[in-house]
Amino acid sequence: MKRVAVLGGGPAGAFAAELLASAGFKTIVLDEKLAWEKPCGGGLTYKAYHQYPFLIDNSAPKKLITKTVLAAPKAGEASLAMERPLVIYSRLDLNNLLLERAASAGADIEKARVLAVERRGEGWRIQTRGAPVEADFCVVAMGARNPLRDFGTELKPGDTMAALGYYVPGTQERIEIQFLPRLEGYIWVFPRCGHLSVGICGKGEPAHALRQRLDRYMEQRGIGRRDAVFYSHLLPSLETPSWKRNRVAGEGWMAIGDSAGLVDPITGEGLYYAIRSADLAARALLAEVGSVAAKVQEYRRLLRRDFAADLEFGSRLAKRIFHGNFLFGSVTARMVQFTRHSPRFARIMQDLFAGTQPYLGLKQRLLDNLNGSLLEIAMGFGFRRLLPGASKS
Ligand SMILES: Cc1cc2nc3c(=O)[nH]c(=O)nc-3n(C[C@H](O)[C@H](O)[C@H](O)COP(=O)(O)OP(=O)(O)OC[C@H]3O[C@@H](n4cnc5c(N)ncnc54)[C@H](O)[C@@H]3O)c2cc1C
Repeated sequence: MKRVAVLGGGPAGAFAAELLASAGFKTIVLDEKLAWEKPCGGGLTYKAYHQYPFLIDNSAPKKLITKTVLAAPKAGEASLAMERPLVIYSRLDLNNLLLERAASAGADIEKARVLAVERRGEGWRIQTRGAPVEADFCVVAMGARNPLRDFGTELKPGDTMAALGYYVPGTQERIEIQFLPRLEGYIWVFPRCGHLSVGICGKGEPAHALRQRLDRYMEQRGIGRRDAVFYSHLLPSLETPSWKRNRVAGEGWMAIGDSAGLVDPITGEGLYYAIRSADLAARALLAEVGSVAAKVQEYRRLLRRDFAADLEFGSRLAKRIFHGNFLFGSVTARMVQFTRHSPRFARIMQDLFAGTQPYLGLKQRLLDNLNGSLLEIAMGFGFRRLLPGASKS
């Protein structure tokens, strides 16, 4: 196998191209827009830049944020200090950074829309408006709206979240997360260089209803929409059965990033999984295992072992977090209250925000800390406030 076509040059495709070109594959990236301001919060967790230090050690404009304010109905707010900051980019800058690295590693970067992909013997012919591109192997990285039906995750109803928001002129030094009643999702305010990204994601609710919720929130918070730029997109958010049958690879191709549905079903974090799956796909392609079919199998195995099993478990947890109750209140309200009153619980939340606490193992850690957390809460502000009819704290 000599020539690899990477279809899509977002974070997943660009990073896969960098790794493959560095290893000596003749690599071409085809992207219809190249670097662009993809609708996105642009937040990278500690887990991402700790494993891939170039994501923080670079000269691209970025914000490092060390404080998050969490809020939920009937629970007030909680301030969470983050020793390991969240790094926030504009997607134009992040995509540029990654595409430049791919080009420096020797990948050809071409602005072209992929129209169709045909099997030709052992290889592929990729149709664009220009001359067709021939390749021995395809890496599919065309995001959540991947137009190729036969490659990548088959998104069933219920496997996506709508995500929309505004780029608002302004500045602040904290992230805000607002949970909402009966919504599997949340509102975020992410400070970026020169503006705020204020958005909402939610599952099972139409985009117009989400927009109404967001507009109401912005009015209540005094965040003006004049001069704001609206954005909307789709987030994969696979249901548990969809993780089990997820089509991440096939004969002569592998899908990475959003095209493979690799997004955290609770937080919507996708950038780390785009980068990580690109790394795993490149490792599988470069592996000593002989045949192309064996490399494809190796990619499936690496994904599962590395993070897909954890995200699958996250898809089960999502329902309990967003729709569940605990101690006579919603789980999200309790999360906010516990964060405010229990240093032990706040440490768990910090690790979740840093991406260092897997979902598998979370229940055990919560149980191990439950007595201590409850004691801290009882000592800190009085246990009676957790009981029904108690006043907001
Ligand atoms: C509103 C919103 C907020 C988000 N916030 C965060 C966040 O704060 N942190 C986080 O980690 N994740 C976030 N995500 C998720 C994150 O944006 C994605 O997981 C990430 O962009 C996936 O990278 P990717 O390379 O797989 O796909 P993409 O970034 O979508 O890249 C796909 C590329 O394929 C190209 N393409 C598509 N079709 C074609 C075609 N036919 N021909 C050629 N090229 C094509 C596109 O131009 C694009 O450049 C958010 C998502 C949304 C929608």
